[in-house]
Amino acid sequence: MYRSHTCGELRESDIDKEVTLAGWVQKTRDKGFVVWVDLRDRYGITQLIFDEERTSQELLEQGRNLGREFVIQVNGKVIERTSKNANIPTGGIEVLVKELHLLNSSKTPPFTIEDQTDGGEDLRMKYRYLDIRRNPVKENLIFRSRVAMEVRNYLSNEGFIEVETPYLIKSTPEGARDFVVPSRMNKGQFYALPQSPQTFKQLLMVGGMDKYFQLVKCFRDEDLRADRQPEFTQIDCEMAFVEQEDILDAFEGLTRHLLKEIKGVETTKFPRMTYDEAMVKYGNDKPDIRFGMEFGELNALAQHKDFSVFNTAELVVGIAIPGGASYTRKEIDALVDWVRRPQVGAKGMVYVKCNEDGTFKSSVDKFYNEEDLANWAKATGAKTGDLICVLSGDANKTRGQLSALRMEMAERLGLRKKEEFAPLWVVDFPLLEFDEETGRYHAMHHPFTSPKPGQMELLDTDPGKVKANAYDLVLNGNEIGGGSIRIHDKDMQSTMFKHLGFTPEQARAQFGFLMDAFQYGAPPHGGIAFGLDRLVAILGGQETIRDFIAFPKNNSGRDVMIDAPAPIDDEQLDELHLKLKLKT
Ligand code: ASP
Repeated sequence: MYRSHTCGELRESDIDKEVTLAGWVQKTRDKGFVVWVDLRDRYGITQLIFDEERTSQELLEQGRNLGREFVIQVNGKVIERTSKNANIPTGGIEVLVKELHLLNSSKTPPFTIEDQTDGGEDLRMKYRYLDIRRNPVKENLIFRSRVAMEVRNYLSNEGFIEVETPYLIKSTPEGARDFVVPSRMNKGQFYALPQSPQTFKQLLMVGGMDKYFQLVKCFRDEDLRADRQPEFTQIDCEMAFVEQEDILDAFEGLTRHLLKEIKGVETTKFPRMTYDEAMVKYGNDKPDIRFGMEFGELNALAQHKDFSVFNTAELVVGIAIPGGASYTRKEIDALVDWVRRPQVGAKGMVYVKCNEDGTFKSSVDKFYNEEDLANWAKATGAKTGDLICVLSGDANKTRGQLSALRMEMAERLGLRKKEEFAPLWVVDFPLLEFDEETGRYHAMHHPFTSPKPGQMELLDTDPGKVKANAYDLVLNGNEIGGGSIRIHDKDMQSTMFKHLGFTPEQARAQFGFLMDAFQYGAPPHGGIAFGLDRLVAILGGQETIRDFIAFPKNNSGRDVMIDAPAPIDDEQLDELHLKLKLKT
């Protein structure tokens, strides 16, 4: 038996027990006649004592020579500590060592295995197995496991069945590039790794499974913008014989359960907002509604004077920054620079200070009088002491820019409180989205999403106007889930492919299996998928999903620990019938 107790277990009630512990040496303290060792495992830290008088000199010597991260096993007796440590649960006792076995030695770790480590991100990723020994990372992984368990419990209780779907498949479009895997047995052919199990879960509905879920890896080969991972985990779900309302109900239930069980937060019915409303009010389809700063559209109030910048703009829109009237010239200039950064992309910013004495001071005083500015204040909800920031230009771009400013200011002002949770449903998404690059419409969600009833005809005349039975669940400014009611009719699905620019042959080659399945009694169905990594990070009150993934990849999609991706040798290429000819 390697151990009788864990390193987090012993208390004063265990005094006088003979115990066996095993773990890692966190640190040693050598006082000459006595040596203390902090022994660590997943469960905690227990202090060991080697004492000249009560232990043999030889054993003391061995204790003294233990290095950091050595793996040891000790037998000894639990005794009361003379100076207790109230900060740790085992702080009332220590183990007087009678026998020591070195199970493994360790090189000096490249960074300290402490909560506050001296190791930088790269180093910690390279030695992730050591990083995982640190409390913050370990706790995050345990937290993730708890969330996953709650998800499984809840959905199982609701009658959902977890079904695994294959990883070696054919492309499922979710808006990214596929990772592909060459087939040895099928010369010249490739599998794609699923961007999601979308078509499979729909086929499970055709198969009569009725309620499906899966905690599943998805793979998307996209440029890794801030905090994305090429492989990530979804809570993927699908239900048959449902309308949008049923899905929202079911998954509001799941989210409410998680907030309650994991965070102890009670929530009432989640608010709903249409996509259009979210864009007008927040310039963003995943608005953070923990704070106000709603957009005020100013076109009607600002386009009647000689200020050509506004007069030629499609949209003039502002927000009120609480307390911003006190900003210095320098601080305001810095804000203007901030919105002009390429990442935000505004050309400039007009500001209005709402002075405490009720007067206004703006950067466009030449064009607008007090009455105009008072109207802007009303439209943006600005109070005395606030600063109105106004952007203008192309409607979509301007909304995006002002939304970025809104989030930045909320962050700076401490309005994005970690322990506050504000979920909401965003509904009625557009079905299609125009892509400037390809000059074509793309499915905003995916090609299997159904349009709102009665809007199929609009597809021919005004495709951009068609709304979908699609919804997102938003939490604190993050999209944590998204889904739709699907098309379950073969002809409607063919029409949709046609509108998305597929020829009938292409649609057949890629999705023939789905359209065939729809001919065998496909039930009405719909579903949703949650991003588990993000959900866990938000519930855990942290920013990056990487911190909740045991072995994450870096921003170039590399695993720096195992050093992947990597070339394969000629023999392996040969087996795959491949020859490398890399483009320069
Ligand atoms: N497959 C979708 C996604 O990955 C989710 C869904 O429509 O259920 O976003």
